[in-house]
Amino acid sequence: MDTLRRIAVPPQKLFVEGAWQDGSGTPLAVTSPIDGSELTTLQGASEADVARAVAAARRAFDDGRWSRAAPAQRKKVLHAIADRIEAEALELAVLGVRDNGTELAMALKAEPGSAAGTFRYYAEALDKVAGEIAPTAPDVLGLVHRMPVGVVGAIVPWNFPLMIGAWKLAPALAMGNSVVLKPAETASLSLLRLAQICAECGLPDGVLNVVTGSGAETGNALAHSMDVDVLAFTGSGPTGRRLLEASARSNLKRVYLELGGKSPNIVFADAPDLAHAAKVSAMGIFRNSGQVCVAGSRLLVERSIHDEFVALLQREAEALRVGDPLAAGTQIGAVNSEAQMARNLSFMAGAEAEGGEIVTGGGRILEHTGGTYMAPTLVTGVRPEAALFREEVFGPVLAVTPFDTEAEALALANATDFGLASAVWTSNLSRAHRMVAGIRAGLVHVNTYGGADNTVPLGGVGQSGNGHDKSLHALEKYVDLKTAWIQL
Ligand code: ADP
Repeated sequence: MDTLRRIAVPPQKLFVEGAWQDGSGTPLAVTSPIDGSELTTLQGASEADVARAVAAARRAFDDGRWSRAAPAQRKKVLHAIADRIEAEALELAVLGVRDNGTELAMALKAEPGSAAGTFRYYAEALDKVAGEIAPTAPDVLGLVHRMPVGVVGAIVPWNFPLMIGAWKLAPALAMGNSVVLKPAETASLSLLRLAQICAECGLPDGVLNVVTGSGAETGNALAHSMDVDVLAFTGSGPTGRRLLEASARSNLKRVYLELGGKSPNIVFADAPDLAHAAKVSAMGIFRNSGQVCVAGSRLLVERSIHDEFVALLQREAEALRVGDPLAAGTQIGAVNSEAQMARNLSFMAGAEAEGGEIVTGGGRILEHTGGTYMAPTLVTGVRPEAALFREEVFGPVLAVTPFDTEAEALALANATDFGLASAVWTSNLSRAHRMVAGIRAGLVHVNTYGGADNTVPLGGVGQSGNGHDKSLHALEKYVDLKTAWIQL
């Protein structure tokens, strides 16, 4: 482990047409949130570099080297990629952690672990998706083909680069598309390594290209490309809006947005085991320092158990070991960047002004390390008008609001512009189903938080976005339906 953490990371280039290439855009320094040290530099892809990557992807698509490869061949390559990710899991996870600060135990499971599973899932799925023969009149044959869309642009965030990257890459590649991937500024390293792995596993040149750089320069160029057919994005709401605008201003590319949330975690007094609910709820918000799109960041708790449950949560929060994400025993790693830390702290200043009480945490810790760490934070008395109730912090901050009735719980749960995840803790089966039906969100957990695997879709409603990652439904984003209407 110590050897891995000290390995120097060479300066990183763009990965285009199967080769490392120089970028002519603005380079980016990679600073580790673990201790503030400079790890390496990334080349920045300019508009011209992005155009080069898109052209390479288009050439690869058009000549059929992957788009018309036999499904059995595509399956073999995707399985080989999954095998390599598993074989290099520790190296990939450590590289990612040094870049983005996620605690290693979590990163191992959620990053290479999950990415390998995703490549395997779509490797297995790709030859089980068939076209259709329509129920036409007998003198006509109506065939519905599922065609790859062409060039997919994938823009991904920094919290789980490999996992979220794989959610876009694996189904897009499985269906025969070419991809240009734009990783986040503060989490590019593991995805650059993944691109190399894909090439070594037999993915033909040009089918996967990686362009690093800032959102404003590189991401913006990809979003405005006239030759990208689909844009698959996970990130913030403001960027999502820009991507829709970019589509409208360029070639009307399809845009899929996964934009985070302010997910309600609702605990009724009849929850089966309050101590267990508190433990799981704490990890539901504090893992990866709250930098999780489905984080249960609003706790709605029945008033009769409010004080008892808050006390249980406080104990859980204060027992969590925050620190160097690569150190043994660390449960919560670093906040991704100084910018994210500043955002977290600005919410803290506002929380008290809006009537909330910081029960535990609330500030930056371990400053002597040079890294960015924040104590798990619990704020009670958060009113529905408060910023902490409405806005996504993306930090280790849980907003607590009491309720008296099921109807009030549901109204509070839905008093948000977002609709990504949620949870209900209750022993009452009928109530659980009523809440599943009533909550406006893409995911409702019952008596748990987190852990939904590849077999189920993940996507939001409202301002949490549109389209789904994971499951067979994700394949729909990366195909066009084509009808053949044949007169017999
Ligand atoms: P986060 O809060 O997760 O950093 P962002 O939306 O800023 O959310 O970033 C997610 C991804 O979107 C990153 O890869 C980032 O570089 C990219 N991005 C940011 N701004 C733009 C933009 N204007 N156009 C395209 N991509 C962008």
